[in-house]
Parts: sequence; C-alpha cells; structure tokens
Amino acid sequence: MTAGREWTIGLCWRCEAEDVPVLWLGPAHSDDHGHAPFHACEPCTRRIEELIADHVARRYAAT
Ligand SMILES: [Zn+2]
Repeated sequence: MTAGREWTIGLCWRCEAEDVPVLWLGPAHSDDHGHAPFHACEPCTRRIEELIADHVARRYAAT
C-alpha cells in the first residue's frame, strides 16, 4: 500500500459524480485561489492513468 493513495467518499473533480469513492491525485493549481486537492472517481482515475502512461511513453520516445 502506497502512502497518500487512500480512497475516500466524495466528489469527482473530473466527471463531477458525487458521493463516490475518489482518489487524491495531486494538487490542482489556480492563479486566483492557490491550490486544492484534485480527486477523481475510479473510472476517471483509470482514464487519467492511461493519459499519464501515454504522456510518459511519449516523453521517453522524444528523448
Ligand atoms: Zn469521475
């Protein structure tokens, strides 16, 4: 188990589903409001994981 990867019940910041299990993915930054915790539900987390994998694969392909 990795520290900081605990599921809680709350609002998904990606699809705006309420009262669903959400995972903290990191701080979201705003010029006006500073930073806030970005949470995503299970399907959104899976999609974001795919995007991260694509991003990392592309970053390594570019070097
Ligand atoms: Zn979601």
